[in-house]
Amino acid sequence: MLKRNMIKNFSWPLKTATREIEITRLYPEVMMELPAAERGIHELDATTCIGCASCARICPNSCIEMVHFKFGNPLKNKKMQFPQIDYGRCMFCGLCVDECPVECLTMGKKVTMAGWERKDIVKSPDFLATKRFSDKEVKDLEAEAKRIAAEKAAAKKAAAKDGAAKEGAAKKPTKEGASVAEKKKPEAKAKPEEGSAASETKKEESKAEPKEGGAS
Ligand code: SF4
Ligand code: SF4
Repeated sequence: MLKRNMIKNFSWPLKTATREIEITRLYPEVMMELPAAERGIHELDATTCIGCASCARICPNSCIEMVHFKFGNPLKNKKMQFPQIDYGRCMFCGLCVDECPVECLTMGKKVTMAGWERKDIVKSPDFLATKRFSDKEVKDLEAEAKRIAAEKAAAKKAAAKDGAAKEGAAKKPTKEGASVAEKKKPEAKAKPEEGSAASETKKEESKAEPKEGGAS
């Protein structure tokens, strides 16, 4: 029995060496096929991210920080803020992906990561972005954003001017109205005085009555 096992131990390496039988996967050159539901390193579409930070707020491990990245869309993401993920803390739960309102953050299929220092596994939007605008595209979008902002500012200014003009026109009739009301005021004041005089005479009459009763 022992002999047979010893022969087997020698024969197996000879067989694999001569017949080129694959014993292990040739990692990292050949990666194993991952299932569809595999949650690997995140992938970010920087062209559609709106910088809302919903992903950062929902993350249970607080591993997402919003940082500046210049290859996004300034029309959609005005502050140009994109997620940076600390993989030292990430547990690949996928909550950030579920929460993203524009579905620009997905779980990728890349699963390997290595580094000499802690900061090597904190991945910036530059690393995560699988889609981004070029320098020229960003410049064009910035020019478009400036044009829209200038248009909005001009429209706001015009609206404020119109509002001020309307207010001025509305003030005139109120002044006239105020003068009419002022004229009416003395009459209104006179009435209570008359009333008070009448009440005084009534008071005097009422005082006189008990005296008569008292005499009888
Ligand atoms: S996968 Fe989970 S732990 Fe990782 S960044 Fe997203 S929300 Fe945070
Ligand atoms: S990745 Fe999604 S959730 Fe996160 S900031 Fe961008 S749009 Fe918002």
